[in-house]
Amino acid sequence: MELQDYTYIIVGSGFSGAVIAERIASQLGQNVLVIEKRDHIGGNCYSETDPETDIEFHRYGTHIFHTSNERVWNYICRFTSFNNYRHRVLSCHNGRNYPFPINLETINHFYQVNLKPFEVDNFMASIRDNSIKSPANFEEQALAQLGRGLYEAFFRPYTIKQWQADPRQLPASIFNRIPIRKNYDDSYFSDTWQGIPENGYTSIFNRLLADPRIRVLLNTDYHALKGRLNPNACLIYSGPIDRFFDYKYGKLSWRTLRFDREMIDTDNYQGNSVINFPDPDISYTRIHEPRHLHPERRYKTDKTIIFREYSLPDKGDEPYYPIPSDANQRLLSLYRQEAAQRTNLFITGRLGDYKYYDMHQTIDRALDIYETGILPLTRLTHAQ
Ligand code: FAD
Repeated sequence: MELQDYTYIIVGSGFSGAVIAERIASQLGQNVLVIEKRDHIGGNCYSETDPETDIEFHRYGTHIFHTSNERVWNYICRFTSFNNYRHRVLSCHNGRNYPFPINLETINHFYQVNLKPFEVDNFMASIRDNSIKSPANFEEQALAQLGRGLYEAFFRPYTIKQWQADPRQLPASIFNRIPIRKNYDDSYFSDTWQGIPENGYTSIFNRLLADPRIRVLLNTDYHALKGRLNPNACLIYSGPIDRFFDYKYGKLSWRTLRFDREMIDTDNYQGNSVINFPDPDISYTRIHEPRHLHPERRYKTDKTIIFREYSLPDKGDEPYYPIPSDANQRLLSLYRQEAAQRTNLFITGRLGDYKYYDMHQTIDRALDIYETGILPLTRLTHAQ
């Protein structure tokens, strides 16, 4: 089939693109062209195996699948089974590890007390800043909830490293109301379902894109190819929305991450998949040790791999996290208005919507786009 014969074109092979491609091919029986500029499918969820140790790792940062959305869970379980991994995070302050998010163990350990659950409320009331009635920024929100000790240890320097911004300049909403657990529950997520795909994320994408009606072009930038495509095709675009419109109103800003990899001669470096490093004298934000993501596997190796994660402003290398500023929101709404004027165009995903989505939210949005956007459009076209 020639490129210009495709009436369904998808840009990006992450969960946004792959789920919609799978739906169009399997439910509508149509041919789909998936264009991917990287040399692999899977977007930021891509997983690969280290050839020396056989340890599976996630190239763009540790990904834990978690959801309470039954539609998403039923859908994804058709393409993979999950192991029983449960995510737990530790935060290393002054050389000691504490459970994170904050629970009773964190408080007891940090303040050298031995509170019982029913004593936590009174204790928190005695340490929080009760003078802040309407928190105006991240710092005030944190002080009003946690008090200065916990804030300075676990949030202030970490936030500065992560956002390269003073917490007083960040909106209170970023802090949200973080849970303070009055018990010893150390699970990071509280969703109904959680785990790591038993055969890795990439195997999910191989299956999502396995239909012979789906053709994937790797190493191909949509913008270089678009002149050769059918201009009336239904286009699902999961790349950056500002790039789609040639940055005509300006560029949206992003933060990016860098991962420095190290092979270490031990079978277990830190005993946990992720440890946060909030202290200001350490320049990385986290260390990932991917072997712990698959407790069901018996890796036959006396080596382990770790990744130190650094957070940086994006200079056009690799957008990771959208930055919630008024200026970005204004730009985004201009691009969205422009997109709304086009027919047969669906802009989606974390890059297209300029929004942080967890995987289950990305899949949910892709299923919605298929059901409420593409399907009605197809019925309309067929009725004409
Ligand atoms: P992506 O996965 O980014 O896919 C978009 C694809 O489009 C990319 O492959 C890109 O190369 C391609 N593309 C872009 N422009 C073009 C172009 N012009 N031409 C061709 N191709 C193009 N979620 C969880 O649920 N749990 C987690 O633990 C978790 N951890 C995360 C950790 C990090 C560090 C980050 C950044 C995200 C994490 N997420 C996690 C979120 C998860 O990565 C996203 O939900 C998911 O990747 C979004 O899928 P997507 O298809 O929208 O975007």
